[in-house]
Amino acid sequence: MTKPVELKNLKQDFSVDFIPNKCKFGVWVVNENDVYIQCRDWFSPSFQCDCCLGAPISVRTERHFPEKKTSKKFIYDDNWGDVVLRNEAWVVFRDMLDDMRSWEEWQRMEIGIRMRMCRKMEETTN
Ligand SMILES: [Zn+2]
Repeated sequence: MTKPVELKNLKQDFSVDFIPNKCKFGVWVVNENDVYIQCRDWFSPSFQCDCCLGAPISVRTERHFPEKKTSKKFIYDDNWGDVVLRNEAWVVFRDMLDDMRSWEEWQRMEIGIRMRMCRKMEETTN
């Protein structure tokens, strides 16, 4: 996923635990106003096909994604998991800090970002 030009030469300011210990989103604050969020898992769908019904994950990944050199550690010879097609996205909230200026702590900002992300996800799914 390419970085937006606005973030060129900028380091990530902090990260937000979106799903604790599972999914972290990188956050950049540009011009103390616009908040860029790098989402490494954005509505990722499961891979579905009819030809491998009931086949173990190792067979499905080898048949459909032979080019992917995924760590074998996570590809099991059983059928209890899912092949996930990971979607990535950049979400930008412009002029976000205007209404957050009274919030002093980063932690509060984290909560604000998480709330907005949830709202954004609801908007996208509806
Ligand atoms: Zn198949």
